[in-house]
Amino acid sequence: MEMPETVETPLLFQRTTENDNHDGPVPFESWGRYPRFPAKLVPLAWQSDFPRVVEEHDNMPTGALPVGMGRSYGDVGLLRDGHLLVMTGLDRLLHFDEQTGVLTCEAGVTLAQILDFAVPRGWFLPVTPGTKYVTIAGAIANDIHGKNHHVAGTFGNHVPMFELVRSDGTRMLCSPTQNADWYAATIGGMGLTGVITWAQLRLKKIVSRLIDYQGIQFHGVDEFLALTEQYKNVEYTVSWVDCASTGKNFARGVFMLGEHSVMPDELHESPEPKLVFPFNLPGFALNQYSVKAFNTVFFHKQIKRRVRALQDYEPFFYPLDAVLKWNRMYGKRGLLQFQYAIPWAHAREGTIAIMEAVAKSGLASFLAVLKVFGDVPSPGMMSFPQPGVTLALDFPIKPGKSFPLFDRLADMTLEFGGKLYPAKDARMTSGQFQTSYPQWQEFAKYKDPLLTSGFWERVTI
Ligand SMILES: Cc1cc2nc3c(=O)[nH]c(=O)nc-3n(C[C@H](O)[C@H](O)[C@H](O)COP(=O)(O)OP(=O)(O)OC[C@H]3O[C@@H](n4cnc5c(N)ncnc54)[C@H](O)[C@@H]3O)c2cc1C
Repeated sequence: MEMPETVETPLLFQRTTENDNHDGPVPFESWGRYPRFPAKLVPLAWQSDFPRVVEEHDNMPTGALPVGMGRSYGDVGLLRDGHLLVMTGLDRLLHFDEQTGVLTCEAGVTLAQILDFAVPRGWFLPVTPGTKYVTIAGAIANDIHGKNHHVAGTFGNHVPMFELVRSDGTRMLCSPTQNADWYAATIGGMGLTGVITWAQLRLKKIVSRLIDYQGIQFHGVDEFLALTEQYKNVEYTVSWVDCASTGKNFARGVFMLGEHSVMPDELHESPEPKLVFPFNLPGFALNQYSVKAFNTVFFHKQIKRRVRALQDYEPFFYPLDAVLKWNRMYGKRGLLQFQYAIPWAHAREGTIAIMEAVAKSGLASFLAVLKVFGDVPSPGMMSFPQPGVTLALDFPIKPGKSFPLFDRLADMTLEFGGKLYPAKDARMTSGQFQTSYPQWQEFAKYKDPLLTSGFWERVTI
C-alpha cells in the first residue's frame, strides 16, 4: 500500500515550557503537572540521531531519557536536570501490510496519526488508552492497557517487533523470538533499556466507526463484579464509579460496554478537536461539593437503568480528548493519579476498603475508572496489568492533604497484594515499589547506563 511520506502530528509535544529555548534547561512537567523538573530538550528527528547526540552532548553527565507526548502523569517521563530526548520528530509511517494488518512506523508516531491512516482503510488499534495523543513508543514503554484488556491483553501483546538502540550504538531487533529478553525488558521498561526508534503494531479490521454501546447503572462493588462476569465476552468494558458518595450511593456507577458495529458504514478521519481548556482554574474550584455535584449529574445523565446506542468511537474511547489541555482544570498545583491493580484473591475487599477511605477523605476526584484485568499474560517484565481489579482516580493536589491520603492508599494497596502503575505515579516509595515489583533487580540488568528518570531515581534509592 502507498504510504504518505510524512504525516503531521496534530499536537506536537504539549508539555508546558515557560521557556522555549532548547539550549538551556526549561521547567518541565508531565500531564499531572507534578512534579516539575528543569531539563534540557534534545529533539531527535532521524533514526540515526541517537546515539550521535550522546557524543555531541559530552555523554550527558546528568543522564538522559527518551520522551513521547508527555501523557504520563508523574515522573516516569521526567528527569531532573537531565536531557530529555524528544522523540515526536520521528513521526513517519514506514510500511503497511494489508494482508496481516501489520503497520511499521517511527517511534514518535501518535495513536491519533495511526487512526487517521488506518480507520479510512478499515483498520483499528488493537488496544488503546483513554487518550489517542500518545506515541507508539510511549505506549510500549508503559505497556499500556485499554478497555479490552480482559480479552486482548496489553499493547505489547500486539507489537511483533521494534528496534532498540543503546547509547553505545548497539542496535537490536527485538521480537518474541529475536533478542526476546530485551523485548520483554523494553515492553513496560519505562524508556530505560534504550531508545525505541521504530516499531510494528498489528492492527485489527473494522467496517464502521461506530460502537454498539450500552450503559448500565450499578450500585456497589458486588453489582459491578456481577456485571463484569455477565459481560466477560464483550470486547470493551469499563466503569465510571462515584468515589465521593457514601451510604446508599456508595460505589454507584455506570458499567459501559461496547463492540465495534458490524454494519458496514462510512469510514473517515476524525475532525480536529477545537476546544482548548482556556486557563488554569484556581485551586479551590475543585472541591468536594463540585465533585459531588458532578458525580450526581453524571450518574443521573443516564436516566434509565440501561441505555443502548450507536456511538462514534471518538467519544467512546477518548471523551477527554475533546477538550485539549484539560489538565489545566486542576490549576497550577496539578493532580495526582492513583491507579492500582489488586489480584483476585483480595480484589473485592481491597476495592471496597480503598473506595471507603477515598469517600471518607472528601478529596475524591470525579474521574474514577473501575475495570477488571483479564488473564492474558503481559509480555513485559515490568508490565503493570495482572488478573484482578484496577481502579484509577485523580486527586487535585491540596497542600497537606493529598500526599498523606495518597501514601495511605498506596500502603493499603500493598496490604491487599496489589501494586501501583508507574505511568501514573509520582509518590510511590522505594520500599513500596521494590515490594510490589520484586523483578526490578532482574530488570535493572537491562537498563542503559545513560538512561534514567525521576521515577527510577526515586524508587531505587
Ligand atoms: C487522558 C489520559 C488517559 C490515559 N488512559 C490510559 C489508559 O487507559 N491506559 C493506560 O495504560 N494508560 C493511560 N494513560 C497513560 C498513557 O497512556 C501513558 O502514560 C503513555 O505511556 C504516554 O505516552 P507518551 O507518548 O505521552 O509518552 P511519555 O509520557 O512522554 O513517556 C512515557 C514513557 O515512555 C518512554 N518513551 C517515550 N518514547 C520512547 C522511545 N522512543 N523509546 C523508549 N522509551 C520511550 C519514556 O521514557 C517514558 O518512560 C492515559 C493518559 C492520559 C493523559
